Amino acid sequence: MRLEAIALVALGTMTVGAAARSNATRKSAQPAQVGGSQCPEGWLPDGDVCVPLPSEGEDGPELQDVANAHRDRHGNWVRYDQIPRLPERPADYDLYRYPIPPGMPGGHAVISGYDLDQPNERQRRGPTLSHVGHGGVDLPQKKGTPILMAPLEHQEGDAEILFVGDLFGRTVITLHTLREAGQIREYILLFGHLDAPAPGIAKGGHLGAGDLVGSVGDTGSPELVHLHLEARRVRAGVKIREEPGHKLVANECTVVCDPRNVLPLK
Ligand SMILES: [Zn+2]
Repeated sequence: MRLEAIALVALGTMTVGAAARSNATRKSAQPAQVGGSQCPEGWLPDGDVCVPLPSEGEDGPELQDVANAHRDRHGNWVRYDQIPRLPERPADYDLYRYPIPPGMPGGHAVISGYDLDQPNERQRRGPTLSHVGHGGVDLPQKKGTPILMAPLEHQEGDAEILFVGDLFGRTVITLHTLREAGQIREYILLFGHLDAPAPGIAKGGHLGAGDLVGSVGDTGSPELVHLHLEARRVRAGVKIREEPGHKLVANECTVVCDPRNVLPLK
């Protein structure tokens, strides 16, 4: 659920005391008005309301972004921020759960992984140098394979649909609220090169676990039928719902993240 939405629902309807009493059932609890006083234990001030702190063990570790750069096809340096894989997250892509079944021989899912944490010379180059580096994972599968939403680790509530349209071929982008080191952080997931988005899905809708996102295709990547799956963290202060599609993947709005930091483990 949107944090702002929770706050709006609760404003003027609950007291700090009520928040403290509902502390035991924090997952479904509503925030309370602060009214200049301290938030109760287990709650944090957020603007003029209190929001629940994550319970012990429920939030993920803090992810740090670092600067990197690579040369584009014209030889110019492109600088960006990126969030490398945390050392405690397994490097083996086969240990993670994806929104489509593995489509490679031997039960492997990923044909091309994340390399924006690598120095320029170790990043992927397309045959025509039209793209440099790879900010997600490529998952080959048969055209038309259903893509089913798999919630991210430490996710709160359902995913919200942010974008349906042409970006990486036909693309769906969803917004996910994650508990990270005692804070609420927003991440987006980009599903690219779809054959088609799920019928009827549109910006503002919600997708729960197992809901249909779309189907695997090769739009924007002719003859290379695969799902491009990319995770990005929304920068603090960015009102991501108000940004147009191309800005959702722009460095000033979101920071690209090794998907192994947020994808669920099997
Ligand atoms: Zn890709």
